[in-house]
Amino acid sequence: MTGLRPLIAGNWKMNGLKASASELGQIISGAAGPAQKADLLICPPATLVLAFVGAVQGSPVGIGGQDCHSKPSGAHTGDISAEMLADAGATAVIVGHSERRADHAETDALVREKAEAAWRAGLTAIVCVGETQDQRDAGQTLDVVGRQLTGSLPDGATAANLVVAYEPVWAIGTGRTPTSQDVQEVHRFIREKLAERFSVEGTKIRILYGGSVKPSNAAELLAVPNVNGALIGGASLKAADFLGIAQAV
Ligand code: PEP
Repeated sequence: MTGLRPLIAGNWKMNGLKASASELGQIISGAAGPAQKADLLICPPATLVLAFVGAVQGSPVGIGGQDCHSKPSGAHTGDISAEMLADAGATAVIVGHSERRADHAETDALVREKAEAAWRAGLTAIVCVGETQDQRDAGQTLDVVGRQLTGSLPDGATAANLVVAYEPVWAIGTGRTPTSQDVQEVHRFIREKLAERFSVEGTKIRILYGGSVKPSNAAELLAVPNVNGALIGGASLKAADFLGIAQAV
């Protein structure tokens, strides 16, 4: 970990009902210790954002969205805007997650528009990039990640408005993780690209690792240079696991 304050973010995906407030309650109860060293964020499904924002009041836990539309409002049935998330009290939004890129054919250009929408609404954009297994096997990892960064990141990124999450698609939800050396190589590459494009600000933008992070591998992954925190899917659904990862910072 470099000198940047880490971010430990949970992506609940399409999981969580009102009753999940008890899991959030346990996260809040255990947050004080980890929050001394890291920012903590939970991204629940949109139906829970408002209630969760109420629940985390006065705690060090922030609430984020998992996606947003590029427009502030309009005839887009089923979508929610960055302004709506901000209005509900969210402080960040994930954009360009590989599941959205795959399930909804989201392109780099659209992800960029969504990141711009997040900024327009005053939210931090957590922009996800990462290669598939086939792309890694073909030796294309850095090409793919470089292309996604170029296409998905808007101009004007700062340490406050942007977080990049490197999530190898083949590591998401599979229990498989890259080696520390592989993570280091990609994170160093991302850091170089950020510094090239955003100069000093690019050296301060946090780069999260995501993909099968759990309490047992968190310390090793979080110790890799230029890994400034984690984006956690499955393990963030259990308070003990989320906190266990946060404690590994
Ligand atoms: C994710 O989907 O962002 C993720 C990292 O999932 P998991 O931790 O379950 O691999």
